Amino acid sequence: MKVLKFGGTSVGSAARIKGLLDIVNPSERQIVVLSAVAGTTNALVEIGQAYSAGKKDEAKDLIKQHKDKYEDLIKELFNTEAGYKNGKELIDYHFNLISSLANELFTPIEEKIILAQGELLSTTLWHFYLNEIGVSSVLLPALDFMKIDEDNEPMVEYIGEKLGHILAQYPDNSLFITQGYICRNSFGEIDNLRRGGSDYTASLIGAAIRADEVQIWTDIDGMHNNDPRVVKGTTPIAHLSFDEAAELAYFGAKILHPQSVFPAQKYNVPVRLLNTMEPNAKGTLISKDGAQKGCIRAIAAKDGITAIHIHSSRMLLAYGFLRRVFEIFERYKTPIDMITTSEVAVSLTIDDTTNLTDIIKEVEDFGTVTVDGEQTIVCVVGDFGLNSHGYAARVLDAVKHLPVRMISYGGSDFNVSILLNSDHKTEALRSLHNRLF
Ligand code: ASP
Ligand code: MG
Repeated sequence: MKVLKFGGTSVGSAARIKGLLDIVNPSERQIVVLSAVAGTTNALVEIGQAYSAGKKDEAKDLIKQHKDKYEDLIKELFNTEAGYKNGKELIDYHFNLISSLANELFTPIEEKIILAQGELLSTTLWHFYLNEIGVSSVLLPALDFMKIDEDNEPMVEYIGEKLGHILAQYPDNSLFITQGYICRNSFGEIDNLRRGGSDYTASLIGAAIRADEVQIWTDIDGMHNNDPRVVKGTTPIAHLSFDEAAELAYFGAKILHPQSVFPAQKYNVPVRLLNTMEPNAKGTLISKDGAQKGCIRAIAAKDGITAIHIHSSRMLLAYGFLRRVFEIFERYKTPIDMITTSEVAVSLTIDDTTNLTDIIKEVEDFGTVTVDGEQTIVCVVGDFGLNSHGYAARVLDAVKHLPVRMISYGGSDFNVSILLNSDHKTEALRSLHNRLF
């Protein structure tokens, strides 16, 4: 069984929703995971923000604006009176629900209910459309089986068991549709897998049912060897290993939700990144044996990084120093990305600055602290294993005309990361591209 996921732009209009059948063969047994229609989740975020700021009128306007878009969409999507009526009842139901929350005490629970409406709408609209044109499909409510535990970790075994039972009830059906992104948390409340989480849903389902393959359909022809928005002449990478893909997804290759690599990797389910606009393009296959020895594969960059430098003579020959520093970040639930150390200083980077002021206050007990925002991590993925040589030198040579703030080498066999001021990102990506490929 395959799992196919279509992103927001792939269901971004009535024409696109109809066009899904150009790619999906309804007689093959598969689960199709859909995102919300492009722009919907952003709008739902805004509505939630208006509610929590007590701006009910603003929320009302936003709801109206957005509902109008769906009114237009269903006019184009359905051909029959009955089909249109179903579509209309559906959007009325979901937007009335959102409107009714104006009278509730607005907490994160209500907010997450609002955020869930986008995927509930897109999947049901497609299901209704298929029904109208006589294509049989089964709508599987993700809230019946997608679950996260108290640490917000998806419960893969639970999902597999639940889904197994549900699928067994439909031995003769082939096309199953479900919502990306949404799930239930350990309290049974509606929750989600964070922005961009539909990829993660697809990978979790793929892992849970031990699918043959997970296909992520977006609007770009695979993972490129550099950022196509910044560098000309980038090319899609045909085959990557899970580890390489995870590094690239995390470090800025926006095409794939970074966490979505791990479930697929753990259960060894290949993931294919494909382009809805160019269905015959090969895209990128991510699988166990995707790595290539003796070369550099790709370059990616992650902006919005803050570097923290801690200088302390107490660190010299001391043990437990780093643990105490890291504990502070742990307490503030702030992940650290890059670390470099000397005997008397440590530099590290974070991208979540929500608790930066409090963190710095505590870290200052250990020594002199400097903080620099607007930094970029440039990550080069390739064969940097124990027996390889020369590649790191080529990377550094390509950026020798730029001030480099940190270098991280040896953390894994396939990644060298450098930290620079974001002003130098474009030049770094271009220079690396020209010299490495
Ligand atoms: N609709 C959600 C978002 O926009 C999830 C997704 O598209 O993957 O973040
Ligand atoms: Mg996405």
